[in-house]
This record gives sequence, C-alpha cells and structure tokens, in this order.
Amino acid sequence: MNKPTRTVWNPARLDAAAFAQADASLEGQTALAELERLVEDLHLPDDGPVPGQVAWALRGEMRAPRTGQQPDVWLHLQASVTVPLTCQRCLGPVDASLEVDRWFRFVADEATAEAQDDDCEEDLLALEPRPDMLAVLEDELLMSLPLVPLHDTCPEPVPLGDPAPIVEAAPERPHPFAQLARLRGKGPDGAS
Ligand SMILES: [Zn+2]
Repeated sequence: MNKPTRTVWNPARLDAAAFAQADASLEGQTALAELERLVEDLHLPDDGPVPGQVAWALRGEMRAPRTGQQPDVWLHLQASVTVPLTCQRCLGPVDASLEVDRWFRFVADEATAEAQDDDCEEDLLALEPRPDMLAVLEDELLMSLPLVPLHDTCPEPVPLGDPAPIVEAAPERPHPFAQLARLRGKGPDGAS
C-alpha cells in the first residue's frame, strides 16, 4: 500500500483523524496580534504594536474506550503566554500568565458533538469541518483569563479611603470592574 507520509500539518484546518493516527505532534508560535479577540482584553498602549507570541503544542493520539472498541481521535493542546491585563484596582497594566492544558475528543461532526456534549465530561470537537486549532487555542486562552486581574500590590497607591473632590461638571466614573473588585472584598451576599 502506498501510504503518503505527512510531514506538514495545517493547524488552521487540521485533519485531526490523520494527525492522531500518525501519533503526530506539532509545536508553534503564534503572534498575539493574530488573536484579535484576546487582544481586545489586553492592556496595550493606543496604536502600539501587540507584543509577544503564544507558544503552543499539539499532540494526537488514538484511544480506544475499551479493548476491542473503535478507537477515538484525541488531541492534546498546551500553550502558555504572559499577557498584560488591566489591574481592576489601579487600572494599570498587570502581567498574567495564561496556561492551556486540555484534551479534546473528536466526533464525526458538530451535530454529534452537540448531542453527546451533555453526556460526557471531556471536551468535544468535530472532525468535519476540519477544526481551526488556533481558534480553539484562542477560545481556551480567553477562558483562562482571570475574572478580575489585580496586582498583588499596586505600584501606585490607590486613594480608596480619601474623600474624593467633588467635581460637578465631569464626575470621575469608576471603571465598573474596579467597583466589582472592591465589592468582592466584602464577602458573598448570598446570591446564587
Ligand atoms: Zn494595580
């Protein structure tokens, strides 16, 4: 049998089944600037370049649920990057390390993934249409963002207790998340 050898994989349109059957692995660097949804959440100077790269690694594996059963396609995605977020106390930049370390099981298509999603703990992806693993990477990075990024100790003292000068013409509106961060310190109020 004349089986073609694959040496190049396209992470943006990955043939996950072939990737797993080949026990393949792939490493790469993607510029943060290409992850536009993530960039929206970063603390960046206006019009400045978006710094940094995300280092990621993909590994494929065929895994049978039980001996003798049809093996499933699994993919492991790992990534790490440090990104500047906005501290919700002082509104200055604060570095956050984002880590992705997740396994995905592949099913035939998106309808199957939806049908099985409630019944299994693992994350499901569809084989067809071929997944854009860089979009999956971005989804995972977005989910790993801290809800309320904060400095351990803010570099600038925050005048929380100072009586604020009353400026009637242009009252300073605190960032909504900054208020949220302050409220969090007061403990749960019994909601949900
Ligand atoms: Zn701060």
